[in-house]
Amino acid sequence: MTDFDPAQIKAARRDGTLKLLLRQQIAEGKARLGDTPAKDWPTSGRRRDVNGTTCPHCHAGPDQRCHVLSRDKTLPKPHQQRLAVWAQTVACCTTCQAAPGQRCHNDNLPLPPNTVHARRYQEAEETAA
Ligand SMILES: [Zn+2]
Ligand SMILES: [Zn+2]
Repeated sequence: MTDFDPAQIKAARRDGTLKLLLRQQIAEGKARLGDTPAKDWPTSGRRRDVNGTTCPHCHAGPDQRCHVLSRDKTLPKPHQQRLAVWAQTVACCTTCQAAPGQRCHNDNLPLPPNTVHARRYQEAEETAA
């Protein structure tokens, strides 16, 4: 499900404000993703295989904990980007219907790299259970 309204898009295309509209939609989408901070997820702790992925942020490999980039210090929680990669790998997205391994998208506009819809985390958690 997306908030894109085809009629709105058509009108915007006519007035030449489509780019502006899309930019706004993307910004709103980002804000919504920001509403679901990693600390609220996962709630059940069922994420054993998160460490089976390589972190795109700190490059911690399989079975390595994420660490602070500038220092040799491991983090208690994986980076958000790693969680996204994990969710993308193991789960399909109930928001945009992306299949496992596919990136999330809003009406064929892919989300930024290593970003998934908030619902996909929940889906991944259930898959991992
Ligand atoms: Zn990391
Ligand atoms: Zn999605």
